[in-house]
Amino acid sequence: MYTDIKNFLPSNILFFNEPLKKHTTFRIGGAADLLVTPQSEEQLIKLFKYIKENCIRYVIIGNGSNLLFSDEGYRGIIVKIGSELSSIEAIPCENGMIISAGAGTLLSKLALFACENSLTGLEFASGIPGNVGGAVLMNAGAYDGEISQVLVRSTYLDCENLSVCTKNFDEHDFSYRHSSYENDGYLILSASFLLKKGNKEDILSKMKDLNNRRITKQPLEFPSAGSTFKRPAGLFAGKLIEDANLKGYTVGGAKVSEKHCGFVINTGNATCEDVLGVIKYVQNTVFAKFGVELETEVKIIEAQ
Ligand SMILES: Cc1cc2nc3c(=O)[nH]c(=O)nc-3n(C[C@H](O)[C@H](O)[C@H](O)COP(=O)(O)OP(=O)(O)OC[C@H]3O[C@@H](n4cnc5c(N)ncnc54)[C@H](O)[C@@H]3O)c2cc1C
Repeated sequence: MYTDIKNFLPSNILFFNEPLKKHTTFRIGGAADLLVTPQSEEQLIKLFKYIKENCIRYVIIGNGSNLLFSDEGYRGIIVKIGSELSSIEAIPCENGMIISAGAGTLLSKLALFACENSLTGLEFASGIPGNVGGAVLMNAGAYDGEISQVLVRSTYLDCENLSVCTKNFDEHDFSYRHSSYENDGYLILSASFLLKKGNKEDILSKMKDLNNRRITKQPLEFPSAGSTFKRPAGLFAGKLIEDANLKGYTVGGAKVSEKHCGFVINTGNATCEDVLGVIKYVQNTVFAKFGVELETEVKIIEAQ
């Protein structure tokens, strides 16, 4: 299937029957028909031309840290925006520095670059295990910081008409864990952030402090996709789950973390079905006890 793609894309970026568990932090997911890791805009345009002409189903992924794929994998093409499309460039401006990063750049690398250049504003992002593209789409945030506070613009590929365009800050429609990219389906190519001059020692110490808080409070020793549920207005999902006596609730290899009830973890050999079993039970129990509907933050991708 899709073997004619080899006529115009190099074989080292094409992975047929690729297990998706290799590309998600949950370490869950069956094989995708094809996973592609484009290295340039030119390759992306060729790929999407092919996808469009052949009406192929596709999904864009970054570092796979907020995704749950089916045990049956994915029928179609996975477009992975990873290290091949990673870059960082800094341009001085009146109020500090504009840092532009390719969508495949890890947030941890970007935050470290900012720190090394005594730039403040991205400390919150240093422990989020996603790429710039996924973080912009999700308006990723932590400890009172979020992408919307520092982003000035982004560039994207309109996958329908294959044009490269720019979105300014106010066109992102940012809100809690949301941006307009969730609705329009464009492929994020890069993002620019305005960072202020700061004190390197202070920046480093804030990053260390936030990362220590993660290590202490989050089950980082197990594969997961981070917070499984969005925070309901004025409440905390983890607290509601703990108060519903669901700490440690298990289905197969999936479990409500005992360290942080907001995380469903993979204890070793969890399947997607196991995780969905935990999610459904948690949602039903919390609703029955507190009348609160927990919405998943993790994005669940069906096989077909
Ligand atoms: C241990 C752990 C801790 C976490 N802590 C936090 C936290 O503190 N705060 C937080 O917000 N999140 C957290 N997360 C969740 C996750 O890291 C973030 O949501 C992150 O921004 C997702 O980025 P990603 O590159 O992994 O995206 P993916 O998971 O690969 O994709 C997420 C979404 O973005 C889309 N997408 C990805 N790249 C692109 C692109 N280039 N163009 C268009 N769409 C794209 C995908 O289609 C998908 O809809 C955590 C996860 C883990 C495992």
